[in-house]
Amino acid sequence: MTQKVVFLDRDGTINVDYGYVYKLSDLKLLPGAGEALKLFQENGFKLIIVTNQSGISRGFYTLTDAIKFNNALNTELGKYNVHIEEFFICTHAPEDKCICRKPSPVMVLEAIRKYHIDVGASYLFGDKLSDVECGENAGVASFLVTKDNSLLYWANLLIKQFI
Ligand SMILES: [Mg+2]
Ligand SMILES: [Zn+2]
Repeated sequence: MTQKVVFLDRDGTINVDYGYVYKLSDLKLLPGAGEALKLFQENGFKLIIVTNQSGISRGFYTLTDAIKFNNALNTELGKYNVHIEEFFICTHAPEDKCICRKPSPVMVLEAIRKYHIDVGASYLFGDKLSDVECGENAGVASFLVTKDNSLLYWANLLIKQFI
Protein backbone atom coordinates (compact mmCIF):
# COMPACT_ATOMS: atom_id res chain seq x y z
CA MET A 1 0.00 0.00 0.00
CA THR A 2 1.32 3.38 -0.90
CA GLN A 3 0.20 6.66 0.49
CA LYS A 4 -0.60 9.86 -1.36
CA VAL A 5 0.39 13.03 0.43
CA VAL A 6 -0.14 16.75 0.18
CA PHE A 7 3.07 18.46 1.24
CA LEU A 8 2.59 21.98 2.50
CA ASP A 9 4.63 24.98 3.34
CA ARG A 10 3.29 26.55 6.55
CA ASP A 11 3.63 30.37 6.75
CA GLY A 12 1.93 32.16 3.86
CA THR A 13 0.38 28.91 2.64
CA ILE A 14 -1.84 27.76 5.54
CA ASN A 15 -1.49 30.60 8.05
CA VAL A 16 -0.79 34.30 7.57
CA ASP A 17 2.94 35.01 7.27
CA TYR A 18 3.72 37.99 9.49
CA GLY A 19 7.45 37.22 9.26
CA TYR A 20 9.14 34.86 11.76
CA VAL A 21 5.80 33.57 12.99
CA TYR A 22 5.98 31.76 16.33
CA LYS A 23 3.69 33.61 18.77
CA LEU A 24 0.38 31.85 19.25
CA SER A 25 -1.31 35.26 18.91
CA ASP A 26 0.03 35.35 15.33
CA LEU A 27 -1.74 32.13 14.40
CA LYS A 28 -4.34 33.11 11.81
CA LEU A 29 -5.50 30.75 9.08
CA LEU A 30 -5.57 32.08 5.52
CA PRO A 31 -9.05 32.22 3.92
CA GLY A 32 -10.12 28.77 2.73
CA ALA A 33 -7.08 26.95 4.12
CA GLY A 34 -9.04 24.77 6.55
CA GLU A 35 -11.61 23.88 3.88
CA ALA A 36 -8.87 23.07 1.35
CA LEU A 37 -7.02 20.75 3.73
CA LYS A 38 -10.29 19.03 4.61
CA LEU A 39 -11.00 18.42 0.93
CA PHE A 40 -7.56 16.86 0.41
CA GLN A 41 -7.86 14.75 3.55
CA GLU A 42 -11.34 13.52 2.61
CA ASN A 43 -9.91 12.39 -0.71
CA GLY A 44 -7.28 10.18 0.89
CA PHE A 45 -4.29 12.46 1.18
CA LYS A 46 -2.16 12.59 4.30
CA LEU A 47 -1.03 16.14 5.14
CA ILE A 48 2.63 16.84 5.87
CA ILE A 49 4.20 20.24 6.49
CA VAL A 50 7.74 21.08 5.42
CA THR A 51 8.82 24.42 6.83
CA ASN A 52 11.96 26.56 6.91
CA GLN A 53 12.26 28.21 10.33
CA SER A 54 15.50 30.19 10.16
CA GLY A 55 14.25 32.30 13.10
CA ILE A 56 15.43 29.42 15.29
CA SER A 57 19.03 29.59 14.05
CA ARG A 58 18.88 33.39 14.29
CA GLY A 59 17.81 33.12 17.94
CA PHE A 60 14.46 34.87 17.46
CA TYR A 61 12.64 31.88 18.99
CA THR A 62 13.36 28.28 19.94
CA LEU A 63 12.50 24.92 18.43
CA THR A 64 10.13 24.44 21.38
CA ASP A 65 8.33 27.67 20.41
CA ALA A 66 8.00 26.38 16.82
CA ILE A 67 6.64 23.03 18.03
CA LYS A 68 4.13 24.79 20.30
CA PHE A 69 2.96 26.85 17.33
CA ASN A 70 2.65 23.70 15.21
CA ASN A 71 0.59 21.99 17.91
CA ALA A 72 -1.66 25.06 18.14
CA LEU A 73 -2.05 25.01 14.35
CA ASN A 74 -3.14 21.38 14.52
CA THR A 75 -5.63 22.28 17.26
CA GLU A 76 -7.00 25.11 15.13
CA LEU A 77 -7.28 22.81 12.09
CA GLY A 78 -9.08 20.30 14.29
CA LYS A 79 -12.11 22.60 13.96
CA TYR A 80 -12.21 21.38 10.34
CA ASN A 81 -11.48 17.77 11.38
CA VAL A 82 -8.11 18.27 9.70
CA HIS A 83 -4.94 16.71 11.12
CA ILE A 84 -1.36 17.42 10.03
CA GLU A 85 0.45 14.07 10.19
CA GLU A 86 3.93 15.48 10.78
CA PHE A 87 5.86 18.74 10.65
CA PHE A 88 9.35 18.62 9.15
CA ILE A 89 11.29 21.69 10.30
CA CYS A 90 14.56 23.10 8.99
CA THR A 91 15.89 25.15 11.91
CA HIS A 92 18.80 26.60 9.94
CA ALA A 93 19.59 29.90 8.24
CA PRO A 94 21.10 30.02 4.73
CA GLU A 95 24.57 30.77 6.17
CA ASP A 96 24.45 27.52 8.16
CA LYS A 97 24.76 25.73 4.81
CA CYS A 98 22.60 22.83 6.00
CA ILE A 99 21.29 20.12 3.69
CA CYS A 100 17.60 20.44 4.60
CA ARG A 101 16.60 24.06 3.93
CA LYS A 102 14.14 24.43 1.04
CA PRO A 103 14.61 24.44 -1.97
CA SER A 104 16.53 21.32 -0.90
CA PRO A 105 14.23 18.27 -1.26
CA VAL A 106 15.74 16.57 1.82
CA MET A 107 12.72 17.03 4.15
CA VAL A 108 10.32 15.82 1.46
CA LEU A 109 12.55 12.84 0.62
CA GLU A 110 12.72 11.93 4.31
CA ALA A 111 8.91 11.94 4.47
CA ILE A 112 8.65 9.89 1.26
CA ARG A 113 10.85 7.20 2.83
CA LYS A 114 9.11 7.24 6.19
CA TYR A 115 5.52 7.06 4.91
CA HIS A 116 6.06 4.97 1.71
CA ILE A 117 4.65 7.83 -0.29
CA ASP A 118 3.45 7.50 -3.88
CA VAL A 119 5.36 10.46 -5.32
CA GLY A 120 3.39 10.46 -8.58
CA ALA A 121 0.07 10.77 -6.74
CA SER A 122 1.24 13.51 -4.37
CA TYR A 123 1.34 17.30 -4.48
CA LEU A 124 3.24 20.15 -2.85
CA PHE A 125 1.95 23.67 -2.21
CA GLY A 126 3.87 26.75 -1.13
CA ASP A 127 3.88 30.51 -1.46
CA LYS A 128 7.52 30.86 -2.51
CA LEU A 129 9.44 29.69 -5.54
CA SER A 130 11.80 27.86 -3.16
CA ASP A 131 8.83 25.73 -2.04
CA VAL A 132 7.93 24.80 -5.60
CA GLU A 133 11.59 24.07 -6.37
CA CYS A 134 11.82 21.86 -3.28
CA GLY A 135 8.86 19.80 -4.45
CA GLU A 136 10.12 19.58 -8.00
CA ASN A 137 13.56 18.53 -6.74
CA ALA A 138 11.81 15.62 -4.99
CA GLY A 139 9.77 14.74 -8.10
CA VAL A 140 6.46 15.94 -6.64
CA ALA A 141 4.02 18.04 -8.70
CA SER A 142 4.24 21.47 -7.07
CA PHE A 143 2.07 24.56 -7.14
CA LEU A 144 2.41 28.17 -6.05
CA VAL A 145 -0.17 29.55 -3.64
CA THR A 146 -0.99 33.23 -4.23
CA LYS A 147 -3.76 35.61 -3.20
CA ASP A 148 -5.73 34.69 -6.33
CA ASN A 149 -4.70 31.03 -6.49
CA SER A 150 -5.27 30.07 -2.85
CA LEU A 151 -4.91 26.61 -1.40
CA LEU A 152 -8.68 26.18 -1.79
CA TYR A 153 -8.45 27.21 -5.45
CA TRP A 154 -5.90 24.42 -6.04
CA ALA A 155 -7.79 21.88 -3.94
CA ASN A 156 -11.00 22.46 -5.93
CA LEU A 157 -9.11 22.33 -9.24
CA LEU A 158 -7.06 19.21 -8.51
CA ILE A 159 -9.68 17.18 -6.66
CA LYS A 160 -12.38 17.84 -9.20
CA GLN A 161 -10.27 17.43 -12.34
CA PHE A 162 -7.75 14.73 -11.64
CA ILE A 163 -8.97 12.49 -8.84
MG1 LIG B 1 5.83 30.39 3.11
ZN1 LIG C 1 18.27 22.90 7.55
